[in-house]
Amino acid sequence: MTTDAGGIVGEFLSLKESTDADVLAMQCGDFYEFFADDAELVADELDLKVSQKSSHGSSYPMAGVPLTELTPYLTALVERGYRVAVAEQYETDDGHARRIERVVSPGTVVDPDGAAARWLAAVEYDDGSDEPWGVAFAEVTTGRFHAAAVADLDDVRAELHRFAPVELLPGPGVRDDDARLADLRESTDARLTLHEAEAFAPGRARHRLGDHFGDQALAAVGLDADPAVAAAGAVLHYVDETGAGVLASMTRLGGLDPGGRVALDATTQRNLELVETMQGERDGTLLSTLDHTETAAGTRLLREWLTRPRRDREELERRGAAVEAFASAALARDRLLDTLDGTADLERLAARATSGSAGPRDLAAVRSALGRLPELAAAIDGTELADSPVPDVLARPDQDAARALHDELADAIAAEPPGSVVGDGGVIARGYDEELDELVEEYEEAVEWLDTLAEREKRSHGLTHVSVDRNKTDGYYIQVGKSVAGQAPEHYREIKTLKNSKRFVTEELEERERTVLRMEERREELERRILDEVRERVASESEVLQDVGRALAELDTLASLGHHAATNDWVRPEFTDGDELVVEAGRHPVVERTTDFVPNDLRMDRERGFLIVTGPNMSGKSTYMRQCALISLLAQAGSFVPADAATLPLVDGVYTRVGALDELAQGRSTFMVEMQELSNILHSATEDSLVILDEVGRGTATYDGISIAWAATEYLHNEVRAKTLFATHYHELTALADHLPRVANVHVAAEERDGDVTFLRRVREGPTDRSYGVHVADLAGVPGPVVARADAVLDRLREEKAIEAKGAGGGDDGTKQAVFDLAAGEFVAGGGNGESDDAAAGIDTAPNGAGDGTAAATEGSLAGAAAGDGAGGQDDPEVAAVLEALRETDVNETPPVELMAKVQEWQTRLENGE
Ligand code: ADP
Repeated sequence: MTTDAGGIVGEFLSLKESTDADVLAMQCGDFYEFFADDAELVADELDLKVSQKSSHGSSYPMAGVPLTELTPYLTALVERGYRVAVAEQYETDDGHARRIERVVSPGTVVDPDGAAARWLAAVEYDDGSDEPWGVAFAEVTTGRFHAAAVADLDDVRAELHRFAPVELLPGPGVRDDDARLADLRESTDARLTLHEAEAFAPGRARHRLGDHFGDQALAAVGLDADPAVAAAGAVLHYVDETGAGVLASMTRLGGLDPGGRVALDATTQRNLELVETMQGERDGTLLSTLDHTETAAGTRLLREWLTRPRRDREELERRGAAVEAFASAALARDRLLDTLDGTADLERLAARATSGSAGPRDLAAVRSALGRLPELAAAIDGTELADSPVPDVLARPDQDAARALHDELADAIAAEPPGSVVGDGGVIARGYDEELDELVEEYEEAVEWLDTLAEREKRSHGLTHVSVDRNKTDGYYIQVGKSVAGQAPEHYREIKTLKNSKRFVTEELEERERTVLRMEERREELERRILDEVRERVASESEVLQDVGRALAELDTLASLGHHAATNDWVRPEFTDGDELVVEAGRHPVVERTTDFVPNDLRMDRERGFLIVTGPNMSGKSTYMRQCALISLLAQAGSFVPADAATLPLVDGVYTRVGALDELAQGRSTFMVEMQELSNILHSATEDSLVILDEVGRGTATYDGISIAWAATEYLHNEVRAKTLFATHYHELTALADHLPRVANVHVAAEERDGDVTFLRRVREGPTDRSYGVHVADLAGVPGPVVARADAVLDRLREEKAIEAKGAGGGDDGTKQAVFDLAAGEFVAGGGNGESDDAAAGIDTAPNGAGDGTAAATEGSLAGAAAGDGAGGQDDPEVAAVLEALRETDVNETPPVELMAKVQEWQTRLENGE
């Protein structure tokens, strides 16, 4: 380490001042040092030892890591979300100075060993554009780059969920608006980095993108809107600025393919547990269940397919045919997967070659991966795979270029080169470079001379116990055992005495040593130069490497899907242009793995497009609906599906909203969130979408809830016309089937025998006859008398076959009662003065009877009820008192047991009063 301590800390602090990175690592000789606050921080985060450095009378904490060990520390810091500036030392006329050469951040760290992609994102907003949001995503370790304009924040969220970036650059249009920034912050776990605003200027961004990807690239992916261009340009600028050196690996600009894409918002991706469970785990997801890939690139691609289903039928048929071939050709599949096993990650290696960080082993790995192409071709040839789209996948990359590169690497790089150190030789293969070959030959002769020296010395001087060796301090020496050291010849010059021996050198030995050292130096120089040339050559073919990497990943993914299909009895779905959706004996792809699963059918078509799913709690409603959504999604990922047969339309989006209660319990949802999700579905879904609603309106009081559920059903049925599965505990909704032509009821059956309920897990036509809630209360250990009483109350309520909404009509003219008439499926005025008017007006089954009116009417009714003197028996003071108590009871605030007790008390009072 350099000695000028005061200067070093000063230099450190001023460099730190000049960067917006969180931490600075500054090279000081053989170490990278962190000082002051940074030392404390890295010591805390990375368990490094802190010492004190005094400088100009003050003492500073200091921590350091050896030069060669920086990468793992950098990666660890970056993984914790820090941006780290790295200052390198360079020679000046009067000593050393340092400058910041790169800034490593979560999205630009080049050397992560993990398999997961590490996306860097930028998001910009500009309300002057039709599609005001721009998003861009880049992955520096593989060189992937995608950008597009999207219409609204939900689309931004969906992309953020899909890419799961580790670092995000919000543009000025986002960060200058607190609400927008807060929205974005909430939509991602990425570290937000405020990159310079000028990088987002659309003019400059357009220029930079054109320079980098070629002028045609923007038009080719339809990148036109300013915010999208700004986001893409900023990402490019940031990667360049941070000096990771990988800019050149980003060779292709990709879009987000909105045309062929299936809308899958962030909520739905989460609800369906595609790549992460609701609890945030990887296990138990669709991805982890399906993933039998052999390579990291295969896993990445499978993830991409599952989170980005397609509508493009041709592509889906192609994938389907390939999966089918893999499913039936078990032997060929296994052979192919074996061949892929352990294949290096070519997309990543291409990026390393481009950034100059690829070592000899990396290049050997590239060679070996390229060398698999013929093996893979052989694994396919002559098997059932040969008649499928599988060979085309393999044939896609430029074969000649791949072969040429492979052969060059085979010629240039030794069969088993050493790791990252160049210096001990053995990196470059013999026969590649004449000069190197000659040198190595001479070197080997010299080493041979040294190796045999001991023998010669023994013979010519009659010495026993002689050896020749080499170490750092003494160089080459002749070591003679102490007992015979006295017999050492004249020309031996003693250099050291040890306990049992003495060390000597001779002039000749020193001369040879100088030659050997010279040759080693020269060899290192030559090997480095050749390695650099080879690396550059590989970098120049990074597009080919990416193509081959992509092809191998695709084979891996297809074979993995084939394997899963074959081992789990899945079928290839058939796609239809019609409206029919038929699944025979469908199963839930994840639950079927761990449960003795009861398969169920699903049948929907033009006349039957909206299913209301009822059934007791825990009977399997959610599972059924999710399995339907997952089957549709799997099919459009190109996979087989868990069913005996499936005929499916190509949907343009899958939308889900899941029970507020589940989510409420996990502190994740509020009624507001529930309504926002519903609102998004009602706005975004189309006739070609699949909508899954698992309880709507549970997060609010009964009347509100039922009104909203009712209105949403009508709207989805009449206006949106999306295929919908709607599970609800509001029995009243089952009556809708009588009024809305495309609504049908199904229920998940349960059987009650001798007071015990058995869940059959069978989906049957028609509504369920009861909710079994009381049974669940029983299961949960609610005291016997309460359960018995609840049963009795329930029976009585059923007899009455109505729920009531008390309400005031329009004005001060007294109170009316609205009764929900199950038979008619609507609220009718009843009781009171018998007039039918405003109280009922908000809810009807007319096609356009939507939300606002109903909710307002219900609220009005409840408020109004308190003012009047009630319906029926209003002259009786006891009845009035009971009504008063009823009005004042907050159902949401009163525990069920207490509520039952109250009802019981009111009943007694009413009976006595009558
Ligand atoms: P609900 O939505 O009606 O409350 P769930 O869908 O959450 O019920 O299912 C309750 C339980 O039943 C879950 O543990 C689930 O694994 C199991 N289950 C659901 N459907 C099936 C089925 N078809 N076969 C076997 N088990 C099932």
